[in-house]
Amino acid sequence: MRVAIAGAGLAGLACAKYLADAGHIPIVVESRDVLGGLVAAWQDEQGDWYETGLHAFFGAYPNMLQLMRELGIEDRLQWKQHTLIFNQPEKPGTYSRFDVPNIPAPFNVITSIIRNNDMLTWEQKLRFAVGLLPAVVRGQKYVEAMDRYSLLEWLQRQGVDERVSSDIFIAACKALTFINPDEVSATIPLTAINRFMQERYGSKIAFLDGSPTERLCQPIVDYFTERGGEVHLNAPLKKIRLNPDGTVKHFLIRGLNGVADWELAADIYVSAMSVDVLKVLLPQSWREIDFFAKLEGLEGVPVINVHLWFDRKLTDIDHLLFSRSELLSVYADMSNTCRAYANDERSMLELVLAPAKDWIERSEAEIVEATMQELKRLFPQHFDADHPAQLLKSKVVKTPRSVYTASPGRQANRPTQATPIENFYLAGSYTLQRYLGSMEGAVLSGKLAAEAIQQAPPVANKPLAAIAS
Ligand SMILES: Cc1cc2nc3c(=O)[nH]c(=O)nc-3n(C[C@H](O)[C@H](O)[C@H](O)COP(=O)(O)OP(=O)(O)OC[C@H]3O[C@@H](n4cnc5c(N)ncnc54)[C@H](O)[C@@H]3O)c2cc1C
Repeated sequence: MRVAIAGAGLAGLACAKYLADAGHIPIVVESRDVLGGLVAAWQDEQGDWYETGLHAFFGAYPNMLQLMRELGIEDRLQWKQHTLIFNQPEKPGTYSRFDVPNIPAPFNVITSIIRNNDMLTWEQKLRFAVGLLPAVVRGQKYVEAMDRYSLLEWLQRQGVDERVSSDIFIAACKALTFINPDEVSATIPLTAINRFMQERYGSKIAFLDGSPTERLCQPIVDYFTERGGEVHLNAPLKKIRLNPDGTVKHFLIRGLNGVADWELAADIYVSAMSVDVLKVLLPQSWREIDFFAKLEGLEGVPVINVHLWFDRKLTDIDHLLFSRSELLSVYADMSNTCRAYANDERSMLELVLAPAKDWIERSEAEIVEATMQELKRLFPQHFDADHPAQLLKSKVVKTPRSVYTASPGRQANRPTQATPIENFYLAGSYTLQRYLGSMEGAVLSGKLAAEAIQQAPPVANKPLAAIAS
């Protein structure tokens, strides 16, 4: 079967890969001139890479790891020490570590918490552990049911100390969802904790050895194009045209650069676009169907990725860092963490600014200035009056609508990959799967969409060729 897929983010590409494995022909259309969607990256005039987002991979990403194994590129993940590292704003220039020993889960994570005395007192640790018990014992079903509470509400109900929330969960929530604990559904951090508690290497972090566009997305494209699939960049889906029975007749693709609009006809159609774009493109007659009407409850969250190149090394830490700052979420010195960005003399900090709703409209200069002020608080030793570190250049990438906003109650709005329309499917990290709005969630959603297509009864009498109009 020919399957038309709109969107070349990880969900659309994974869907295409697994359809090719099943003997189908995926045809991917992407609106931009770059692969990867939220993992897309570009090179500047000097050849330095900058990215839509700082991306960390976790041991608890079975579908991503399997995909990379199947493509023969698993050695592109650079695994870091098994530890989580937090800045200590109250002791500028210092870090607090949760070192996870190499013993079976969940004892490895528990040991790392017990051993850390910088951030939590014994009483706080005990109350935290008791509060978490139902999530660990009663498992994912309990975790899903907690979607009705914000994380802050849930922590209060469990009697967990406010300091645990402010010290650990603000950092974790901002890293996972780009919003704060009073806005985020309790299901999200509890799901992550559950995975980390159940898998020995679940919380172990890796960085890709180069740009996700080149080192991850391109190999997926090579895989399915070698098997007859196609990718068209600069080919935005403009309209979903329907048959009289409400099924998809074809995708109308906007012709760019002097090319006329064209029709992409296939046996099956997949939207792997973000939910915000899909909502705009939904045909009128589908909007009344409850399945699609529920998408109105989902919306992408703003986030900003800041890149700062300095004239010297600011840190030799080769890991993801949790800033615990109000402005910033996680960051990393990519000159240490990523082989293709390596530099022994100069730091390139990649920092996620979140929550970003008050910053997304501001100028790049304001964003860089605010980030620098924050760094001066975190690393005063590098910005003394005599010999301060010099910023050589910066790059800001704003994403006004990124992954879906994971506020309480949103689980009920997340759609399955199969839809009520027999020849139309959904992929995307916002669709229903257990790994939230992440790279792992995107890959799993693409795989689930491909499985749903494979399992569906054949759709009869649909046109087979892409027709230029
Ligand atoms: C700053 C930042 C940091 C992140 N950090 C992490 C992390 O550390 N770990 C992690 O696991 N995840 C992280 N994520 C989340 C992760 O990047 C996403 O969950 C994942 O990449 C989403 O993939 P997707 O395919 O579902 O959607 P998208 O990547 O949004 O893909 C949708 C695609 O559809 C295309 N499209 C849109 N409109 C059209 C149209 N009309 N026609 C055709 N194509 C169209 C888009 O251009 C895009 O390529 C981060 C995200 C950001 C923004």
